[in-house]
Amino acid sequence: MITNKEKNLYRNTKQRQKILDLLVNSKSHPTADWIYLKLKKKFKNLSLGTVYRNLRILKETGQIWELNFGTGFSRFDAVVHSHYHFICSSCQKIYDIKIPPMRELDDRVIQLTGFRILSHRLVFFGLCDVCKLKKKKNSKNVKNHRTQYRS
Ligand code: ZN
Ligand code: MN
Repeated sequence: MITNKEKNLYRNTKQRQKILDLLVNSKSHPTADWIYLKLKKKFKNLSLGTVYRNLRILKETGQIWELNFGTGFSRFDAVVHSHYHFICSSCQKIYDIKIPPMRELDDRVIQLTGFRILSHRLVFFGLCDVCKLKKKKNSKNVKNHRTQYRS
């Protein structure tokens, strides 16, 4: 006979697996809210608290990374080998930067401090392609506007 406890355990494991699948198949480094809204359709009685709890377990078991770039919301990443990020200062999109990790940085810090370095993280800030274009267009409009008034 299956007890309620076992039923709950099974449901939790299933929801956790779904969260992990979602993260593995997404390149956008989603927030907990996004994951919740996405899975709510399938799991009617899912709560945001459950999503947070499962994310914490996934993080503690090393299956996901929690990223916080000071934007107020944690973002989650199922790519857990060392890699760098770019975050767009305008649209807040996060991209993986595909350059090999620079181990020489670790060496330099070790030389400087004598500390034991386990890993390092690196994040680049700037404007993504889309936002860069938008900015360009806007500044063109401003220029046209100015010349109009001048003549
Ligand atoms: Zn952008
Ligand atoms: Mn990533």
